[in-house]
Amino acid sequence: MPHNIRTILERLNSSEYRVTWQRWAIIKEIVLNKDRQLSAEDVYNLIKQDYPEIGLATIYRTLDLLTDLGMLQRVSFGDGKTRYGLADGGSQYQNHLICVRCGAVEAFDEAFLRSLEEAVGEANQFQVIDHEVKFFGVCKACQKEAPARQRS
Ligand SMILES: [Zn+2]
Repeated sequence: MPHNIRTILERLNSSEYRVTWQRWAIIKEIVLNKDRQLSAEDVYNLIKQDYPEIGLATIYRTLDLLTDLGMLQRVSFGDGKTRYGLADGGSQYQNHLICVRCGAVEAFDEAFLRSLEEAVGEANQFQVIDHEVKFFGVCKACQKEAPARQRS
């Protein structure tokens, strides 16, 4: 089921929680960036220009609330930061490229990994329901930056 803002707002409305404009602003940012996972700080940086009244504490509370309601899931990349992604968009984007320089996290989908999942499951008589792959390295933007720094 593809997630959109309306589904989330409807679910929030049918819970005991109200859709406040703060929650709306935060949800909107998560949905607009659904291809990557955002930390609370990422959300804060994205919305502070339009919504300077929303503090980091509110964002943390909202992200936790939406996670408790099953709309978001927490994702950890081992860098001590908790990021959040849409809960049922998750299994499609469990493969990530993580830049060790700037911390950018990019999701990728590779059909080969699905074949691998099947092969590994069969070989080990293991019923695979999902997989998660992380590649650590240097992103395209950072690759461009490095030679410039050396020249100066
Ligand atoms: Zn980078």
